[in-house]
Amino acid sequence: LMGQMMTQPLMISSLLTHASNAYGSTEVVSQRVEGDRHRYTYSDCERRAKKAAQMLAKLALQPGERVATIAWNGYRHLELYYAISGGGLVCHTINPRLFEEQIHYIINHAEDAAICFDLTFLPLVEKLQPSCSSVRHWICLIDEDKMPQSSIPNLLCYETLIEAEDGDYEWPSFDENAASALCYTSGTTGRPKGALYTHRSTVLHSYASALPDSLDASTRDVIMPVVPMFHVNAWGLPYTCPMVGAKLVFPGAKLDGASLYELIESEGVTMSAGVPTIWAGLLQHCKDHKLAFTKFKRTIIGGSACPPAMMQTFQSLGVQVIHAWGMTELSPLGTVAKLKATDLNKPKVEQDAILQKQGRVIYGISMKIVNGEGDSLAHDGKAFGDLLVKGSWVVDRYFRGDESPLIDGWFPTGDVATIDQDGNMQITDRSKDVIKSGGEWISSIDIENVAAAHPDVHLAACVAVDHPKWDERPLLVVVKKPDSTRTDEDLKQDLLQSFEGKVAKWWIPDDVAFIEKMPLTATGKLLKLELRNQFRSRNML
Ligand code: ADP
Repeated sequence: LMGQMMTQPLMISSLLTHASNAYGSTEVVSQRVEGDRHRYTYSDCERRAKKAAQMLAKLALQPGERVATIAWNGYRHLELYYAISGGGLVCHTINPRLFEEQIHYIINHAEDAAICFDLTFLPLVEKLQPSCSSVRHWICLIDEDKMPQSSIPNLLCYETLIEAEDGDYEWPSFDENAASALCYTSGTTGRPKGALYTHRSTVLHSYASALPDSLDASTRDVIMPVVPMFHVNAWGLPYTCPMVGAKLVFPGAKLDGASLYELIESEGVTMSAGVPTIWAGLLQHCKDHKLAFTKFKRTIIGGSACPPAMMQTFQSLGVQVIHAWGMTELSPLGTVAKLKATDLNKPKVEQDAILQKQGRVIYGISMKIVNGEGDSLAHDGKAFGDLLVKGSWVVDRYFRGDESPLIDGWFPTGDVATIDQDGNMQITDRSKDVIKSGGEWISSIDIENVAAAHPDVHLAACVAVDHPKWDERPLLVVVKKPDSTRTDEDLKQDLLQSFEGKVAKWWIPDDVAFIEKMPLTATGKLLKLELRNQFRSRNML
């Protein structure tokens, strides 16, 4: 017997229409590259997104074609998210921090038909343009009177184009499994690979990520995604916020501590989101100027393990860190660390230990850990193995990829993890970063967390170096705080001592190397590959 309920395809455009209908006067505030602050409402946003969809149709872009964006977090970028996907095209967000050669590769691999970019990225776009033969239209996201002189032939002005439209447009309805957006992985190993999301996967991901024990987003929140809209769609917040009617605050290109603090306070931000490395500036700014927050209560940290010391600093400022794990291939949300009712009576140290893990799977995702033979491992918080996932917002295959990445229907994440009796998952490493000493694995993340808690340490990375007896041994690589007065030797002894009692004795690094600047990936994560190459053979020399 079939049920008798309506079926409506899950369309991305419906999120913005809902925001406009139910939360029409709720604000979207953007720090613009022009220098000023722009504000309007969700209903203004939908009106302009419709004009942008009309404009894209007029440029003869065909359903399914890719329209790329190279832009900061801001209202025009938000309009394009909806105009492109809502109109049946595919929104390809490009990370401008990738190497130029990689950007060039992904534009050509995606065969982008148009590229919309913020003025800041004009020099980059001018370099790319001559060798991007698929791109028919280049659109600068700026007012007509600020249009730059450029070597790009027929450079179009976004504001002039949408000004010419009347906004009398109905979002089309089509198969919910149609492609909606395309994100490439940052390709720290090998070529970047494209995750091609659908309208259905995106709407389901938004439902799941808004839940109280996921990101807990509501219309009473003022949400500032610091994670860029070119990094896995700012973790879905440009979809989740309109779904729940949260006020959105976009920081644009100004991500330094002082600018973020000012925006958080003046706009009443209650929740934010970003990778650990971007928060160091904000926390330092608060410390230097003895500042506190008025309404800022929660921040989602993911993309890399959040060091416990960072979590504690946020806590001391009254901000709860919500530790989350995910990846491009998961749209990105997979797990979120939250306390269960039975955790509430536990001592604070135990609660903190739970919150420092990567958390429980959210509804819609299943996960397991397996050994090298593919056998499932115990959920005892000790056994660690390869983490596999499946779910409605997990990639089935890569865009234009020949082979399925799946193993018996499961997606191998490339992460190594434990899962405890309560279902809390903890990442011990990326499989390519694992340190194998005497046949046993050492968790580089645990070591980095201890080092990051030291007051003289700005950034710490633990990598494997070759060893004649143990195959590999851990080396700690440290960037000192700018105001540290310790000598290298003195700090090294102190650091090595700080591991006593915190990790197994044989996990303690043999040595500490000090460097001036940490190599970071395009998404702000420690680039361990470069460190490994630099230090690999140091014990063998
Ligand atoms: P890339 O870094 O290749 O661009 P993603 O941004 O999709 O790709 O990153 C996904 C990876 O980031 C995960 O597989 C995992 O290794 C790491 N990661 C994400 N969140 C966390 C977290 N909370 N703790 C530890 N590692 C994380």
